Amino acid sequence: MNGIVVVGTGQAGFQLGASLRENGYAGPVTLVGDEAGLPYGRPPLSKAYMLGKTDAAGLALRPEAFFAEHRLTVRAGERAVAIDRAGRVLRLASGAGLPYDHLVLATGARNRPLPVPGADLPGVHQLRTLPEAESLKAALADAKAVAVVGAGFIGLEFAAVCARTGVPVTVIEGLDRPLARSVSAEMAALIEASHVAAGTRFLFGTAVAGILGPDRARAVALADGREVAADLVLVGIGVLPDTDLAASAGLRVENGIAVDAMLATEDPAISAIGDGASFPSPHAAGARVRIESVQNAVDGARCVAARLAGRPAAFAAVPWFWSDQGPLKLQIAGLCQPHDRAVRRGDPEAGGVSMFCYRDGRLAGVESLNRPADHMIARRLLQAGRGPTPDQAADSNFDLKALAL
Ligand code: FAD
Repeated sequence: MNGIVVVGTGQAGFQLGASLRENGYAGPVTLVGDEAGLPYGRPPLSKAYMLGKTDAAGLALRPEAFFAEHRLTVRAGERAVAIDRAGRVLRLASGAGLPYDHLVLATGARNRPLPVPGADLPGVHQLRTLPEAESLKAALADAKAVAVVGAGFIGLEFAAVCARTGVPVTVIEGLDRPLARSVSAEMAALIEASHVAAGTRFLFGTAVAGILGPDRARAVALADGREVAADLVLVGIGVLPDTDLAASAGLRVENGIAVDAMLATEDPAISAIGDGASFPSPHAAGARVRIESVQNAVDGARCVAARLAGRPAAFAAVPWFWSDQGPLKLQIAGLCQPHDRAVRRGDPEAGGVSMFCYRDGRLAGVESLNRPADHMIARRLLQAGRGPTPDQAADSNFDLKALAL
């Protein structure tokens, strides 16, 4: 028996190994990852770690002893470079070959590069890995002015850290609002207002033409001729799924490694999970989605582990996500985008608000800002395929909890 080999020691790869053991799988399990060390969680990198509230040790998904106890072999610092599908062998850059009965690709995603002159100057950072977080944190300690390129989750979380630590920060975004691809217009406006109140400056609808040096970042040049002075620039313009290994093995790639509803590729001996995989989701009316979240990585891994342990089921878990930005706790249940109607429940002045987003008359998802109870109820409702009408959602006297029972 060759056992199960997993490429990627991120959230999804780790969970696959842990869940195989929970499901009673007794064969060999090997996790291959090109990062150093044991699996760690990325969410604190832009939050607690950046604020100094936790250190690198605090990011570990499990202590070292866990891997020995569960007989999970971790080959850290090794990159997989090819898959011999006919022979069922994974080839590593070191030249080693790992034979497998089943291969799981949990290769995640990597930072999208900013294609402008000066993007490689000292002082320009991206944030995906622990070494990148270490270097960004050290730079922030000395920074006089920060520019963030991209008003996505990571950019906004880092902007909130800058504001809290008293470093002036400007967020530059090509679209006309923050989180344009991720949340409703009304939610985006509330989030923007909170950041502005904390001292963050936004420049919308403007492209970055370059980073000005000459020796290290001094300013961001905008396409309209303006310059934003900054000695620290964080580029947070999204990620690209890491599909190279799959593509070079002839597996189908469609905005991520394409898998079916069971998270299996067209090769019966290969599955794919996490940020790097795209799958048909019942929560998007069967449309193919690729989701970047801890929940998707964890639940996808659980789904594949159960199948490999003899309990196959389609991947149907309700997607959910969170983002902490200063005083804001944003939580999203379901897949809100695209939606054709969004109704508000609650009052931001009174502490919190949720946006109930509808697509074709059905509840597609709920965005909650500092309203965790709504979020939990929304997850239950979406799992059950139920939801309030828009009028009920907007009526704060309507008992949502009763509907979820
Ligand atoms: P990854 O974590 O990217 O792991 C993939 C691993 O595979 C990487 O270590 C990569 O180096 C390795 N790899 C790739 N190719 C190879 C190869 N050929 N050989 C060997 N190794 C390879 N999500 C939330 O839900 N809430 C949050 O608040 C949140 N905050 C975040 C903050 C930050 C700063 C970041 C970066 C992400 C955040 N996320 C958050 C997203 C979440 O962390 C990801 O969705 C999750 O890590 C995805 O896990 P993954 O295992 O699919 O991919």
